[in-house]
Amino acid sequence: MKKFSVEHIRKRISFIGRNPQIIYTIFLIIIIPVSFLLSGQKFLKVAMDNQERLEQDRIGLMQDVFVGFAALFMDDSPLLQEQIEGIKEQNKTIVDLKVLKKIGSEYQIIASLDTQEIGKIDDDSRRNFNYNMALSGDSLIFPTKEYDGRHWHAVRSIVDDSSNTVGIMYTDISLEHIDELFKEKIKSAYYFLMIIVAAIGVLLIRQAKVIDYAVLYKRLKEVDQMKDDFISMAAHELRTPLTIIRGYTEMLGDSKRLTESDRQMTRNIEQSATNLNKLIGDILDVSRLQQGRLSFDLKNIQPGSYIQEVVESLQYTAKEKGLQLTYQKKDAATIKVDVDRLKQVLINIIGNAVKYTPTGSVTVSSYVEKGLLSMRVSDTGIGISAEEQQKLFSRFYRVRSQETEDIRGTGLGLWITKKIVTQMNGTISVESIKGKGTDLIISFRVIKTEE
Ligand code: ADP
Repeated sequence: MKKFSVEHIRKRISFIGRNPQIIYTIFLIIIIPVSFLLSGQKFLKVAMDNQERLEQDRIGLMQDVFVGFAALFMDDSPLLQEQIEGIKEQNKTIVDLKVLKKIGSEYQIIASLDTQEIGKIDDDSRRNFNYNMALSGDSLIFPTKEYDGRHWHAVRSIVDDSSNTVGIMYTDISLEHIDELFKEKIKSAYYFLMIIVAAIGVLLIRQAKVIDYAVLYKRLKEVDQMKDDFISMAAHELRTPLTIIRGYTEMLGDSKRLTESDRQMTRNIEQSATNLNKLIGDILDVSRLQQGRLSFDLKNIQPGSYIQEVVESLQYTAKEKGLQLTYQKKDAATIKVDVDRLKQVLINIIGNAVKYTPTGSVTVSSYVEKGLLSMRVSDTGIGISAEEQQKLFSRFYRVRSQETEDIRGTGLGLWITKKIVTQMNGTISVESIKGKGTDLIISFRVIKTEE
């Protein structure tokens, strides 16, 4: 069991290693909300500190002004009362304000926001201690834990002209209502954060799908590679016995003892073996092209003689069908191609023209236009509709119609042709009218002789 779980964890880790998107997702889901929270807290702390400092400065300033005034009117209790009520009106953060007159060692309240206590001696020992502390002329401001929110007591001595402390100004400041406001804002910030986390969650689910697809894609590529390797190996292995069959059939064909019907049968075997050989060749080319293993020996050549050679080689098949196969060379020019690959391409398209033309002619021409040497193969055959032309160069695509029913093929020839032409920096195009005929044109850039 233990072995299984260790193995399990090891597999998980290696899976994550192979799919770094998972780390990216975890990063998103954890780091973003955490960094939001941390930076939010930091901003909040700075904002609150600043606000406290500003508030204390403001209260300090107000006290400075008031104690100067109060020193002159310590005997005018109603005036002081009127003043402190005015101050309270303008300062929402002040919750208590008293003016106390020093009588011996005691402090009598001569103005207060709590009018009930006016005239009384303040006997709160803690406050008395603070009043005594402020006697030295210091301004005291200190936080208190008596309340839930942020709360301070501020004590300031009232000094007359002869520098005698005649009284005390006591202020209670609370940031409770601002804290309430903050709480509201923080709450909505947390809601916002939750929405972000939910959005990241949705992204995570999508990401998980992307990971699935990525893994699947990898597997598909592996399977595709295995398939290509298998096809390539199987095609090679098929070629050996096929070469032996072709060799013996050829020898058999030369035998003097065969009757005419034996000879016909031998020719049929030979033809089938040749077809099979071509098919294997195509399959091998497809696999080489897909794996980028098809090599090209590019050389500057004038293609005329090679076109002629290919046309000659197909003359017999054309004649057998009663077709006129001709080559019209209009211009000579140099192009850079692999000769064997060019011949392979020409055999394919001229071969197709002969194959898909029941009556009439196949004309091959080469000419120079706009710096390009084009080789055009025109036939008077069955033609290809516009819709079919779109798919013509796809792998395994064959036009399915009554006319093509009895014509054998794999649908690989034009795919291979296009790949080869493109890899030799050429282009291939088709012009065709269904029922009238087809033109296949391949073009290569003309090389100036100095090049
Ligand atoms: P195939 O082995 O079937 O000939 P190709 O890739 O060479 O495969 O050609 C694909 C299809 O294009 C053919 O099956 C045929 O239907 C069509 N085609 C190719 N050349 C011609 C042409 N000259 N005239 C009419 N149809 C053609």
